[in-house]
Amino acid sequence: MLVRTKNTKIYERACKVIAGGLLSNFKKEAGSQPVYVKSVDGARVTDFDGKEYIDCALSLGPVILGHSNKSYKEALKAQIDEMYSGEFSIIQIEAAEKIQELIPSAELIRYSVSGSEAVFNAIRVARGYTGKNMCVKFNGQYHGGLDYILGGIVENPENPVVVEGEREEDLYSMVCSTEGRGRNTLSNCYMVEWNDPDALEKLFKAKSDDIACVVMEPIMMNVGGCTPEPGYLEGVRALCTKYNVVLIFDETLTGFRLGLNGAQGYFGVTPDMSTFAKAVGGGFPVSLYCGKKEIMDSITNTRVLAMGTYNGHPVAAAALLATVAELEKEGAIERINRLGNMMKEGFEAAAKKHGISLRMQGMSGAWFPVFTNKDKIINHKDAIENADIMKSAAFAGMMKQRGVLNNFRFCTSAAHTEEDIQLVIEKAESVLADMANM
Ligand code: PLP
Repeated sequence: MLVRTKNTKIYERACKVIAGGLLSNFKKEAGSQPVYVKSVDGARVTDFDGKEYIDCALSLGPVILGHSNKSYKEALKAQIDEMYSGEFSIIQIEAAEKIQELIPSAELIRYSVSGSEAVFNAIRVARGYTGKNMCVKFNGQYHGGLDYILGGIVENPENPVVVEGEREEDLYSMVCSTEGRGRNTLSNCYMVEWNDPDALEKLFKAKSDDIACVVMEPIMMNVGGCTPEPGYLEGVRALCTKYNVVLIFDETLTGFRLGLNGAQGYFGVTPDMSTFAKAVGGGFPVSLYCGKKEIMDSITNTRVLAMGTYNGHPVAAAALLATVAELEKEGAIERINRLGNMMKEGFEAAAKKHGISLRMQGMSGAWFPVFTNKDKIINHKDAIENADIMKSAAFAGMMKQRGVLNNFRFCTSAAHTEEDIQLVIEKAESVLADMANM
């Protein structure tokens, strides 16, 4: 067994200058050592001890082209040669035109840098546009580290209870709870169960006079990879129209993974606004929010503030265009998805062989392993009651030890090969064999 001595030393060094030795963390990760990466190549990363990993984490999702895509690197280099400072030039307009062409809800766009910022701005625009205050989110969905959307008031409008802090039965609340939150921030957000149209309608009936927007991940990629039940997205769309509530799709994870038209194109349901980040930049920090002209004009007429020094940085815009250009090549997304599906089928077959009930949920390029006896898990409540999240965590950890990087989700990129995925499946089989004997 390889002893990762150099990694441990680097961790100790990092802890002396970087809080926790980590770049981003959830609450319960104290003491966890990240993999410090010495080099990257295609779908592989190598740490300072020489241990090679197949990368199915892809930097928390963005690296959809893999780590060494030639055209992407050349485009970034060319842009840096031309201009690396944040001046407004033609490239930002070109990238916005591309988004407008691809994304059904993108009549107008604005750039930001991270997914959290895109969500923050979209909610503010929705509030400015409607003149209403409350936001609705779904239990177990994640939209970044914003104070006022990491939790909320639970669904019963007659007896509102603000849910914050940790609940023992709910690992998600333990991971995402935080101290230092502004007082009363969560009182601006209702939280209902996803895939449950009645819960949303009940809330709208009681409170829609003061509900500005609904924010949702169109596939619940952060807990359980739950997909929308037939008719659910259409139902939410209709409810939002009826009650004059702005529907925002947070496509930070689904954006470009479900195809170049996003989840909205894939499912044929057009929200009023949407946010994109991660894979739209192929690894470079770029995000955006977009929506109907009438709504985004709250920015045009300057009623709503939308600021940021690095918004639409030219190198970020070049990254976006280069990513799209690669993904537009014939068969590119289909290939990423085919490999993803191969992984899903391989994991499920290996689990079956070892008598383990495992269901891979999510979307073709990003799968979430769910340990459940049910046919599917449809939302957070279902996941808490019927899936073993500790087993998902154990599986993810053991896969990492065996050399497959992941963030619970297992993603594929344009750089993965069939051989890579076959190897990942073999490793999953050995993990599942171990789990069967535990
Ligand atoms: N929205 C979703 C659906 C996400 O998964 C994430 C991050 O994982 C965010 C927003 C926040 O994005 P960022 O980490 O770039 O701020």
